[in-house]
Amino acid sequence: MPDRCHAILNAHYRLESPVTLPGSLPLVGLIGGVAEWLFLRDDLLSVTISAADALMDRDADDLRHLIWRDVAAATGLDPDRPAPGRIVKEKRATFAATPEQGRKRPRPTLSANLLLAGDWTDTGLPATIEGAVQSGHRAAAMVTQ
Ligand SMILES: Cc1cc2nc3c(=O)[nH]c(=O)nc-3n(C[C@H](O)[C@H](O)[C@H](O)COP(=O)(O)OP(=O)(O)OC[C@H]3O[C@@H](n4cnc5c(N)ncnc54)[C@H](O)[C@@H]3O)c2cc1C
Repeated sequence: MPDRCHAILNAHYRLESPVTLPGSLPLVGLIGGVAEWLFLRDDLLSVTISAADALMDRDADDLRHLIWRDVAAATGLDPDRPAPGRIVKEKRATFAATPEQGRKRPRPTLSANLLLAGDWTDTGLPATIEGAVQSGHRAAAMVTQ
């Protein structure tokens, strides 16, 4: 099975005043900073950063300030006054999508009476919800055959 992983970091801010994202969209992608994706739902603004391995050892409050600067640039909020927030670090969020790791993904059929499913199996897709769901359907179909 794959044995090298990458991290994903999420920051969730509770906004004190209403904001809109560029184009009044519910989500936007950013380039040139640390934050990658911004999601706005009412007063909750969430940020997702993939392959965030380099950020895992940084202090949560330090990250709250750092990421907020990108949020502020996209929303016009004060970059020096980050909203209260929570940082969620997933150190082993996805396996590394390399050819070497891909070759370690097991086939769903281990033996006549043992089936595997999950994003880490050989789904033909990266470590995604879609891959996990497809492999679950495939395993269920094998069981019922
Ligand atoms: C932070 C983050 C962001 C992501 N963003 C996206 C995204 O935007 N789009 C996307 O497509 N994918 C995304 N993914 C990947 C996606 O979440 C996974 O590909 C998907 O959830 C994998 O599904 P799964 O069923 O294989 O495994 P999981 O969702 O990990 O489910 C495995 C389940 O098994 C349980 N379990 C583990 N061990 C045991 C045990 N011994 N006994 C009983 N239960 C056990 C676990 O608690 C868990 O509930 C993200 C992942 C993370 C971590």
